[in-house]
Amino acid sequence: MKKILLICCVFPLFIFAQNNDFVNIKSLSDDFVFDIKYATDNNFLKQKVYDCGECYLRKATAEALHKANEEFKTLGYRIKIFDCYRPLSVQKKMWKILPGTHYVANPAKGSKHNRGAAVDLTLVDADGKELDMGTPFDFFGKQAHHTFTQLPKKVLENRKLLKDILNKHNFKSIYSEWWHYEFRPEMQSKIEDFTWECP
Ligand SMILES: [Zn+2]
Repeated sequence: MKKILLICCVFPLFIFAQNNDFVNIKSLSDDFVFDIKYATDNNFLKQKVYDCGECYLRKATAEALHKANEEFKTLGYRIKIFDCYRPLSVQKKMWKILPGTHYVANPAKGSKHNRGAAVDLTLVDADGKELDMGTPFDFFGKQAHHTFTQLPKKVLENRKLLKDILNKHNFKSIYSEWWHYEFRPEMQSKIEDFTWECP
C-alpha cells in the first residue's frame, strides 16, 4: 500500500520539477540584448532551426547570467546573447552538417547547450554596438581561440573583460570559442529536447 502511494505521488512531482527547471531569461531582466542566430538563416547552418529566438536556461544559470549582466551594466556594457538552451534535435542537425569536428558536440554525448547550462554571448556598449572581439560568433578558426593572442590590444582587453566577469560568476570558458561559456554547477545536468513556445 505504501509503495503504491509513493509511485502515484512522487512521479508527477518529478516531471513538474524537470519542466520547472528552465526559465526564459526575459523573466529575470529586460536588460539583455538578443541576436539569436539560429532563429535566422544567418548562421553556419545557413538555415533557421528555431521557430523563434528565445533564450531558455536552467534557472541557476539564468540567475548567474543576470548577476553578471548587472555587473557589466555598472561598466557601461550589456550582454548580447547569441544562443542559450538548444534542443537535442537541433544538435543532431548541426552534427550532420559538421560531424567529427571540435565545434559541434556529438549529440550522443550532448553539449552543455542541450543541458541548458551554456550560453553564447558578447558585449555591447551604451549605443548597442558590439565590442570588437576579433572574430564574429561561430568563427571556426584559431583566431577565435582564447590562446590566440596575435590580435589588437583592444580585442584582447575586450575578451579579458568578458572572461573575467563571467568567471567571477562561475561561468567557465572553453579554449576554442571566445563567445561560449558554461555555468559550472549545472554542466552535468540532464540533456533536454523540449522546444519553447513562440509568442
Ligand atoms: Zn556555445
